[in-house]
Amino acid sequence: MQYACTAATERNARCRHWVGDQRAKVFCSLHQQRKDAGEAVEIAPKPDVALYKFNLNGKWRDKLLELGIPEKDPDFGAKEAKHVAHAQQFGREAYAIRKEVADSGVPVFGKEGIQNVSLYETLQDLLAEYEVVDIHIRPRRDGTRWISVLVINFSHGGRSISNQPALDTTLEFLSSSCWGFCHVWANPPQDDGRIVHTINSSHREVDKQPELVLRLNGGLWSTEPYVEPELDY
Ligand SMILES: [Zn+2]
Repeated sequence: MQYACTAATERNARCRHWVGDQRAKVFCSLHQQRKDAGEAVEIAPKPDVALYKFNLNGKWRDKLLELGIPEKDPDFGAKEAKHVAHAQQFGREAYAIRKEVADSGVPVFGKEGIQNVSLYETLQDLLAEYEVVDIHIRPRRDGTRWISVLVINFSHGGRSISNQPALDTTLEFLSSSCWGFCHVWANPPQDDGRIVHTINSSHREVDKQPELVLRLNGGLWSTEPYVEPELDY
């Protein structure tokens, strides 16, 4: 499995080189050389904001709209231009990772991401660290078609959302399944210095047993093998 080097670059972004090992303080050859030469190597920063995004089918979209989760319509062109500018600002090739979408960050688990993942524990990690400050639905381009995506914003110190039934239903939806694909992106600091990570999951499979569990791991992210919960009879 690919895993992004856990060092921070000079400008406080996570390094874009790969290592195979998911332990904290595992560095690519460049950062390891620096460390061996006695230079200080900083660990990649914790996110200030974690945006959890996942694809919704029509049934769930309707259900969540009914619960009062708003639908927002982003200006896709403006967002794309912002990603390109953000990548250039950090001396990065915006289309190096995905050919059709500009990226300024690093996919923590490589281009392929992780497969068959339980996100229940991930949510517990995020809820322990952040507050949910916003939930909304928005359209996302997936190749040639548009799909509905639910976005949950986990942030520090913001005001928690007041629509508790919507939050509960959303968390239940997210927790009680196996996700076929999951990607975590560690993005470089924004203009205000804030670090935003995104977690994307897709292909929800209700009856499948997950193989992996995604953990926040102090903002560096890691996976663990999935262990089936013991049932009390
Ligand atoms: Zn590195």
